[in-house]
Amino acid sequence: MICEYGMETYRFTCHHCDHTWTIEYQVRYATDSEGSPWTFHYREGSPAASPVAGTIVCDHCRHTHVGAHLDARRYLPARQPDIEPSTPN
Ligand SMILES: [Zn+2]
Repeated sequence: MICEYGMETYRFTCHHCDHTWTIEYQVRYATDSEGSPWTFHYREGSPAASPVAGTIVCDHCRHTHVGAHLDARRYLPARQPDIEPSTPN
């Protein structure tokens, strides 16, 4: 399994009230034994729903019709112990 770590910044736009905001995620990119890519998102070290899963709620109007746009992505050279899963090797 190949693991890489990165940071992704998403810009969200509410299609109901036009409120926009950004959230920075810690991301783990993995490839399973079949070669399929998996992406795991974390916020402040805790697992988070994918920003594009459609589960984001607008802070202003509580509407769920929110668009997500990937603003920035950077890969981290070192492993991030705080988001390392507790799977034994
Ligand atoms: Zn809104």
